[in-house]
Amino acid sequence: MDSIRYIKGIGPKKEVILNKLGIYSLNDILYYFPFRYEDRREIKRIKDLKVDEVSLIRVKVLAKNLKPLTPAYFNKMRNSIFQVIAEDNTGIVSCVWFNQGYLKDYIKIGDELFIYGKVQLYKNRFQIVSPEFEIINRRGEEENLDFGRIVSFYRLTSGINQKFMRRVIYNCLSFLGKDIVDPIPQYIRKEKKLFDIFESLKNIHFPDSFEKANLARQRFIFEELFFSQILVYMRKARHRFQKGIPFMVNEELIKRLEDSLPFKLTPSQEKVIDEIIKDLQKPYPMHRLLQGDVGSGKTVVACFAIVAVVSSGYQVAFMVPTEVLAFQHYQTLKYLFNDFSFHIEILTSSLKKSVREKILDGLKEGKIDIVLGTHSLIEEAVDFKSLGLVIIDEQHRFGVAQRALLPKKGKKGLPHCLVMSATPIPRSLALSLYGDLDLSLLTDLPPGRKKPETIVVEENKRDWVYDLVEEKVKEGRQCYIVYPIIEESPDLELKSLKEMIGPIKERFKDLNVEIFHGRLEAKEKERIIREFRENKINILVSTTVIEVGINIENATVMVVEGAQRFGLSQLHQLRGRVIRANYQPYFIIIKEKESNESAKKRLEIIASNYDGFKIAEEDLLLRGPGDFFGNLQWGFPKLKIANPLKDLDVLKQARLCAYQVIKKDPYLKDSSHLCIRKYLSFWLKKPVV
Ligand code: ADP
Ligand code: MG
Repeated sequence: MDSIRYIKGIGPKKEVILNKLGIYSLNDILYYFPFRYEDRREIKRIKDLKVDEVSLIRVKVLAKNLKPLTPAYFNKMRNSIFQVIAEDNTGIVSCVWFNQGYLKDYIKIGDELFIYGKVQLYKNRFQIVSPEFEIINRRGEEENLDFGRIVSFYRLTSGINQKFMRRVIYNCLSFLGKDIVDPIPQYIRKEKKLFDIFESLKNIHFPDSFEKANLARQRFIFEELFFSQILVYMRKARHRFQKGIPFMVNEELIKRLEDSLPFKLTPSQEKVIDEIIKDLQKPYPMHRLLQGDVGSGKTVVACFAIVAVVSSGYQVAFMVPTEVLAFQHYQTLKYLFNDFSFHIEILTSSLKKSVREKILDGLKEGKIDIVLGTHSLIEEAVDFKSLGLVIIDEQHRFGVAQRALLPKKGKKGLPHCLVMSATPIPRSLALSLYGDLDLSLLTDLPPGRKKPETIVVEENKRDWVYDLVEEKVKEGRQCYIVYPIIEESPDLELKSLKEMIGPIKERFKDLNVEIFHGRLEAKEKERIIREFRENKINILVSTTVIEVGINIENATVMVVEGAQRFGLSQLHQLRGRVIRANYQPYFIIIKEKESNESAKKRLEIIASNYDGFKIAEEDLLLRGPGDFFGNLQWGFPKLKIANPLKDLDVLKQARLCAYQVIKKDPYLKDSSHLCIRKYLSFWLKKPVV
């Protein structure tokens, strides 16, 4: 019943082509929305035509003629001009098609045509070259979809055209007619004054007016956001029924850690630690997202959760995106837990086999309390005796599937889960996107941090930049110089690290300059970062491996080359590396002369904004809707039509409606909600339980 082959016009070949566009079911056809419309309502009279205007006329064929283009090699189909002379009762027009000789037999004298195209003047007569057309007298009873109305345009692939797409969608809509079940319950539609499903589908594909097209679009935006929020709330409701591990938190140890810190916690750190400690005592697992700008001090917050869990005899898995970050956290934890006898290890992919085996055994037997690691932590071989807490740092660097795997390694109930992110998104949005996670925010930076001086210069200022670097190094500070690529690549006009290292070493002869990138041996990476931390290295010439998490307080200058290649949040992250202490930070961008518009815009934004929330918002706006939920939430379909950032008001309404539905009926058993259940399984491509 659901096969698209039931639709008139779709045979086996077209089916394969439609599959390429992600169209497999009748619903997929109906939900294949146009990305733009063209107003073709006005039929012009020939005498009113204007040169260079794209116009629609309705004419009768008076004469036709097929001419060779190159006489010597005349091939009727390929090298030809086909011309039609046609009239309405106000004038005459000529239409020509190149290399489409077959039209000669298709268009007949006396036919009535719609002609649509750009009007030109040729030998004193109106002429339209390669127009779109339709033979009106041969259309029969079919509704006109291409002319004399508002016409929709779809994303296509080779083998089908707009005409076909419109017709197929139209046929599908007629085939199903009023049988289409509206996924939004009637009582919600009534309350929100939304078009019903049939009206909406009809008007998004074949609108009577632009107003109606817009209303239809609004309804689908609501629908999409409503379903995303239904999913979010269903998950949240279910979390409460999961069996977790309630901890008895030892307040004394918490106090001891706080007292041993070399600084005072910020008010928002205190608040967040409190929220987390409360979560850990609940009988269901914590699902908490900690958002805080770069440098806001998330690591130490995590440490409080660790103390609570480890002192109760449970293990902690702390996953980070890079090896370098694993080493750094290892050192931080060693330092902060100096007074606690915790057993901490690192698990990465570059360990020797024997070392790795030993760590795996330690985890299984419960000898290791805290394991830091990269993706290696989610490998199958990793097994815990009693995993009580999972921490995922820089969570945006992991795929959704990867993030979901680690908590599954718990055995005595699901572990508590804390995910941390430095790419904050506006609160209202975060609540909806991560709605099934509880949200904690670090709203302040540690006291005394200075605003970075952000300077954008062109390449001819490189000497000036190097002088500044030298000056700062002489004052005792350290510097990063970052390149987008390691080696030159023939098709990129970018300065690469390898190309520039020579000149840099030459320029800073008296200083200690080192190279750092992802392809180095793990040991070498560790050595370089250690020496940089110990201020034995003055300038670190690096790729973006240092982008996330690296915390070296004395490094206060960063020079970024080829910055047009970096995204906004990446630039913000990079800049975050030099805002680590209370020295004045410098963030210098060297840009190429010809950077494109969007790169220019990004650099402008980064130079004039410091607030990570603001930058993240701009970033989302620049990047457009795309895979909003998909990147953030496990198992969420791509949004097709809604942009949560632009449609924030609708999002809020949809969120409230979804909340009320799930609160009343968490398993969607009510007869008025069966439509939601049915649509969810179409949306998720699997049955909803
Ligand atoms: P991020 O949130 O980017 O992960 P980190 O946790 O790496 O930030 O912290 C950045 C730096 O700030 C570290 O050197 C850390 O020791 C320091 N820090 C954290 N909290 C405070 C505080 N309350 N006062 C002063 N320094 C702090
Ligand atoms: Mg961090």
